[in-house]
Amino acid sequence: MSLASERQLLRIVLLDTDPGASVQLSRRLMSLRSNPYELVQADSWSSARQLLAEGEFKAILARPSFLLEDWDSPVPVIHLASEPEFDQNPHQVDDSIWDQASAGELIRCLKYAIERHDLQSAISHASSYDALTGVCNRQMVQDRLTLGMRRALRTNQPLAVLFIDLDNFRHVNDTLGHGAGDVIIQEVVTRLRRVLRNTDTVGRMGGDEFAVIVEDYARASNLLHIAQKLTSEMAEPFFVETESLLLGCSIGIATYPEAGQTVDSLMLHANMAMLQAKGQRGCHYHFYDDRINLQANSLIEFETALRQALRRNQFELHYQPRVNLSTGKIVGLEGLIRWRHPERGLLGPNEFIPLAEETGLIVPMGYWVIARACHDLAQLQKRKMPPIHIAVNVSFRQFQDSQLLPTVKRLLEKTTIDPRWLEFELTETAVMQNPDQVLMTMQGMAGLGVRFSLDDFGTGFSSFMHLQRLPIDLLKIDRSFVKGIDSSGSDRQLVHAMIDLGHSLDLEVVAEGVEHRQQLDSLRQMGCDQVQGFFISPAMPFEELCYFLDAYRMGREDQKVIGESL
Ligand SMILES: [Mg+2]
Repeated sequence: MSLASERQLLRIVLLDTDPGASVQLSRRLMSLRSNPYELVQADSWSSARQLLAEGEFKAILARPSFLLEDWDSPVPVIHLASEPEFDQNPHQVDDSIWDQASAGELIRCLKYAIERHDLQSAISHASSYDALTGVCNRQMVQDRLTLGMRRALRTNQPLAVLFIDLDNFRHVNDTLGHGAGDVIIQEVVTRLRRVLRNTDTVGRMGGDEFAVIVEDYARASNLLHIAQKLTSEMAEPFFVETESLLLGCSIGIATYPEAGQTVDSLMLHANMAMLQAKGQRGCHYHFYDDRINLQANSLIEFETALRQALRRNQFELHYQPRVNLSTGKIVGLEGLIRWRHPERGLLGPNEFIPLAEETGLIVPMGYWVIARACHDLAQLQKRKMPPIHIAVNVSFRQFQDSQLLPTVKRLLEKTTIDPRWLEFELTETAVMQNPDQVLMTMQGMAGLGVRFSLDDFGTGFSSFMHLQRLPIDLLKIDRSFVKGIDSSGSDRQLVHAMIDLGHSLDLEVVAEGVEHRQQLDSLRQMGCDQVQGFFISPAMPFEELCYFLDAYRMGREDQKVIGESL
């Protein structure tokens, strides 16, 4: 609660569970015309923390029952005692006052606690930060690095230390004077801050030497991006009065834990890497660990190539047929993406999908796949082929994209295909990550007329409740189970159980990865509805597929070739 006033009052958090006591205290303060404070009550540390995070508060007045918690408060904490006598301040508080003290005493107590706290922070700031630039000093960088390394170890996240040294800086000081030198040092910090995130630590190690700690950069290529941005920022001319100066810089990079397990060894190695970079004129960076350098470079190259592949139309959608076991007819196709890499040839999804997932490229790539499948489905319909389902795989990332529903709708309208024949394959993991949101999107899409299958069934953790709730028509049993049905009794039992489970939920069951006749026969015996795999055909380009579909149909009509065997 708070008592409002036209005057801008300094706000104090009152940690107290009793609203009555807080009203009383507020009234007492307000009775003094010169009172500068306003009390805002919080009944727990977590709501106090929230208040502090949201607005400016000067201090916390806390009841004794709240003083047990070991919390590092950014503002002074004053113990609000219910007894007039207290021998000494409880642990971690800045001052104590009786809750029946007069308004004047209370105001004085708050004022001194706030002033003392401000003074202490100013002193500790001066001993931890560089006076000229306001960034951390050497000691503080080391402290932050110690904490950062602990965090990195705990969360299994990478951490890197960058040592940055200006070239020719002494020359500036000698010819233009120290004032000009200071201007440049400040400008360097501005440029570092421009490239780095707020959570990264920037420190001045002395003279023209800086250190940067970068945490959680996820991939080596991100670190390389940072190093590249830093060097290009530093390569810009510096302006001092009327002079424009080009200063080179050298950056040495050491990553934890590869380049050292202690603060000292990391700093030493960052410094050594920096000296290596000094060997070259202009702005350069050097990794202490060459492997990181290579890895980052090749990842960046691969990522760039992947982006270009979308623009340059290097992706292809190949199709693998699915056969109905009781009619022997091809009833569906699964579209599988391939990348025709200019140097490395045709790449399968395993080689680029993980990177696409990581970089978010999976979303535009997924739309390309859907558009391609719709286009090819329209082609099949134009060629008067008997209708079959075309299924595309959708990643969880894409399922979270707000554009999915409108895009699919637009594509259906544009290609005028019958939506009944379009199918989306979702994996169990995708479904389980955010079941409610997935359900909503699926319902929206099902409303368009398309249908869904659950892919890689058995490899994730679907709950039966979700299986029942979601608008799914098919279960696709993962190849890893199908593989062993003829050699392992337990795999056989498992597959049989999955088929029964699917049927009990009114789902059609498809077995993936069928490679031998024996597997096909076993699956038929178990009542499996459809099969997909090399035994029928590997995935093939669209043109080839059209021939295949024709030949397969003719073969069946003549009771020959594959038709008979199925
Ligand atoms: Mg699939």
